[in-house]
Amino acid sequence: MAEADRLLRDIFGFDAFRPGQQEIVEAVAEGRNTLAIMPTGGGKSLCFQLPALMRHGVTVVISPLIALMRDQVRALREAGVEAGALTSGNTEEETEAVWSALEAGSLKLLYLAPERLASGGAMQMLRRINVSLIAVDEAHCVSQWGHDFRPDYLRIGELREMLDVPVAAFTATADEETRAEIVRRLFADTPPQTFLGGFDRPNIHLAFAAKNSPRKQIVSFATARKGQSGIVYCGTRARTESIAAGLRDAGMSAIHYHGGMQPDDRREAELQFQQEDGLIVVATVAFGMGVDKPDIRWVAHSDLPKSIEAYYQEIGRAGRDGAPAETLTLFGPDDIRLRRSQIDEGLAPPERRAADHGRLNALLGLAEALECRRVKLLGYFGETAVPCGNCDLCDRPPETFDATEPVRKALSAMLRTGEWFGAGHLVDILTGTETDKVRERGHDKLPTFGVGTEFKKGEWQAIFRQMMGHDLVRPNGERHGALFMTEAARPILRGEETIRLRRDSLVAAKDRRPATK
Ligand code: ADP
Ligand code: ZN
Repeated sequence: MAEADRLLRDIFGFDAFRPGQQEIVEAVAEGRNTLAIMPTGGGKSLCFQLPALMRHGVTVVISPLIALMRDQVRALREAGVEAGALTSGNTEEETEAVWSALEAGSLKLLYLAPERLASGGAMQMLRRINVSLIAVDEAHCVSQWGHDFRPDYLRIGELREMLDVPVAAFTATADEETRAEIVRRLFADTPPQTFLGGFDRPNIHLAFAAKNSPRKQIVSFATARKGQSGIVYCGTRARTESIAAGLRDAGMSAIHYHGGMQPDDRREAELQFQQEDGLIVVATVAFGMGVDKPDIRWVAHSDLPKSIEAYYQEIGRAGRDGAPAETLTLFGPDDIRLRRSQIDEGLAPPERRAADHGRLNALLGLAEALECRRVKLLGYFGETAVPCGNCDLCDRPPETFDATEPVRKALSAMLRTGEWFGAGHLVDILTGTETDKVRERGHDKLPTFGVGTEFKKGEWQAIFRQMMGHDLVRPNGERHGALFMTEAARPILRGEETIRLRRDSLVAAKDRRPATK
């Protein structure tokens, strides 16, 4: 649904749906009765807020949590959506503003505290306005046997009958009895379409690797899977073409795909991928929406995706048939720099930028994980899991080492040079390398000069990359990517916290700067 994708991006500022969201949004937008069980933090609110914008009239949201309602209304209004709340916490002016927006027919979302349903005035008002959907948050509050029972929730059934509009109910409580009771009370025994978590795709093998020569790494990954259908996602259009050529040179059948191609050529490529066995498409994220091929056996990323949501959506195109599928995601310091600067240089307001940095950190945390990736990935979506046995870290638990001292040395080299330099120069200082730049700046006189000879240059690069991954240091967009220390690094510098890093990526690191192209 192009409309839903556009709203997701433009209004909510997200680049991909979380697992489950898209299906729920589609069902709710189409006006079907739905019951969605999603873990706390899984992203329920989007599942009624977005459809509300796709439907005519007003979506009435019933929620027991006043503070949460007010937060959501504020966030929606900041994003330019007409939303309002009628709760006991309102000032008179707020209530007045909501009423007039309702009269004017401009309101899209009306948040309502359940006790309002007990007042005749509110019911009258709801009858008069054009309500198109009732969204019920924390739907388990309708259950008399639960801890959160709200007697006023029992009136939602009446409201639905009176208005004769679809109901979309949401809860994190998954037990069967509660679910049955929600169905009975809210949907009068006609079972709604039910969405019940379980977002895991256990047949997909998860793996990340440090990027050193992406074209070679992707070609070798694909060669080991010759004859299987696969997708390679790239960060730039140019790279799709160069990697596709590399794959063809290695004897595989591969085509490229990106948004700069003519619509006809794109459709042709999609069709070819759909029909041909063993074809590889090397694409930007523009590829995939319309593709419905169940036997894609692998997905590789030559560049770090935008977020965990985007990552999960993209790898999720593999193995739809349930048979084993494999993934490989490459990432390097240049990816991190690029993503950070895209966020910093974007037009988003400061809070959204901070949230975007946070989301990028979550993805980097997944990339630099020390234990089962699936546990980490599902944890991000609010689900708990046990070590999966189907990821690179379960296959081969990485060896870690106490990196507190080297990290402190690196931070100190950074601070002593005023946070004006990138990793390359800092590594020269740490390893005591007398380059022209080092001598010109007098950095060979620093106390940190040559304090890090226990590691080779490539190993220091890997340490810096992992430090970026743990968000201890960030590139400064205004200083050509010079690194600066984040708050998260302070306790380590002060000796209040220790940190472990992976040893294997140090061993793998070649003694040179990672390639960028
Ligand atoms: P809950 O399911 O607990 O109601 P929320 O709707 O509050 O969860 O969402 C939890 C967090 O996830 C919020 O910070 C929200 O901004 C974020 N979120 C929701 N959907 C997405 C998405 N598609 N991409 C990125 N972040 C998302
Ligand atoms: Zn695992």
